[in-house]
Amino acid sequence: MIPGARVVILGRQGAGKGTQCARLSRHYVVPHISTGEILRAAVKDGTPLGQQAKRYMDGGELVPDEVMIGIVDERLRHADAMRRGYVLDGFPRTVAQAQALDGMITERPLDVVVDLEVSREIVLARLAARRVCVDCGANYSVAVPPKQNWTCDFCGGEVIQRDDDTEEAIARRLDLYDLQTAPLADYYKSQGIFDVVDGVGAADKVLARIVAVIDSARERRGA
Ligand code: AMP
Repeated sequence: MIPGARVVILGRQGAGKGTQCARLSRHYVVPHISTGEILRAAVKDGTPLGQQAKRYMDGGELVPDEVMIGIVDERLRHADAMRRGYVLDGFPRTVAQAQALDGMITERPLDVVVDLEVSREIVLARLAARRVCVDCGANYSVAVPPKQNWTCDFCGGEVIQRDDDTEEAIARRLDLYDLQTAPLADYYKSQGIFDVVDGVGAADKVLARIVAVIDSARERRGA
């Protein structure tokens, strides 16, 4: 039987988190829980959450902690996450969110928190070139577009530049990452469940590095 996993993937926007989390989710057969995707779906559907979140997102600001904590708390209660685990992408983003997460998972703690390390210079270039499918969230770039006229290879949705991938909003998000999310490294180091993985290189190689870290963390914990 394929073992599940309970992992958080940290990393600057554009570090390849989305791509790697989708692969990890297939590898361990666990849901990929991306708070950015949940919010973008809510914006697209025009729900009250979406309306509330959009103004923060467009400016590259963080959506308030209590909103995010409520969303994740609800999602982690679903049977798939309860049974097999999850790959958390984009959450926690602040120490307050990390503390709230600890409170949600006391009975089933995290295996490991992986920081996907890619320099600010590299992610800036990647983000400016990034394009995404509005329907399924698949990632493309100007250098690697979909096969047909900005139509998603997987679902046929429209492939566009994200509203928050403007130069100004990107810079703001990267600043916020250094300010609010980087302290999470210390938080998880003090719990002894933090590991850094080099996020530069072919996607397959990066995936293999992350899997090695997760598997050895699970072994250490006797899982
Ligand atoms: P992402 O796709 O992870 O880059 O998220 C896109 C945007 O959604 C972020 O710039 C934030 O505005 C918002 N967001 C996603 N996750 C969180 C979170 N955990 N806390 C606060 N805001 C979030």
